[in-house]
Amino acid sequence: MIRVNKPHDAPAILNTKGKAKRREHVAAYNRGERTFSFDAKIYGHKTVKEALIKAQHDKCFLCESKITHISHGDVEHFRPKAAYRQSASDTLHTGYYWLAYEWSNLFLACQLCNQVFKKNLFPLSNPTARATSHKKPLSREKPLYLDPSVDDPEQHISFRREVPFPINGSERGKATITDLGLTRPKLNEKRFEHYRLLQSLYDLACMNPPTPESDRAQALLDRAVLDSAEYAGMSRAAIKASFKLVA
Ligand SMILES: [Zn+2]
Repeated sequence: MIRVNKPHDAPAILNTKGKAKRREHVAAYNRGERTFSFDAKIYGHKTVKEALIKAQHDKCFLCESKITHISHGDVEHFRPKAAYRQSASDTLHTGYYWLAYEWSNLFLACQLCNQVFKKNLFPLSNPTARATSHKKPLSREKPLYLDPSVDDPEQHISFRREVPFPINGSERGKATITDLGLTRPKLNEKRFEHYRLLQSLYDLACMNPPTPESDRAQALLDRAVLDSAEYAGMSRAAIKASFKLVA
């Protein structure tokens, strides 16, 4: 997981149809309604998805896997729109209906991260400060999950080889890793394949004196740490540790 820099301006449909829908939901809430029907054609509109694909370099905002060469990807709500739970054993509560079409609340996620792991869980470290309606400020909330457009995930999560761990026991790093499936076996396996390739490149790049092969290896390593590269968070940690940390 790495930082996501979304453009400041939201795709137009969120400002037009999205804002109109938000007004409808707010009016419904004020009439006493607590369930809402959301329009995926607005928050999941082609222009929204394309803007997220571009901002996130076609990667899932959680696991950093590239998405659209194998699946469509989901437009995911950081704060759940319909219902949330503070913990797995908690009952469902009315969600953040007023943020369903909010640009800052939307990310591109792979289907596994979105549908299998995240679901409705949205724990806060201060649950009594939760914004339970549009009338309450979000600014008092302290979400346990890292928001990559606000937080720098690399301050909270690093890697030993291919396995993520919370830096200095970061509570937020730990919750994000554990609850959102960032150590699921298939994902670790995929990252480990990537790690081994990078390690070979690293060994080649360290050759002294340099050769054309070691220069090419270095150029590939330089690309592997860019925001646009798959598993850039892991690659940066591995290179920083000179591939010496073991899982
Ligand atoms: Zn994912």
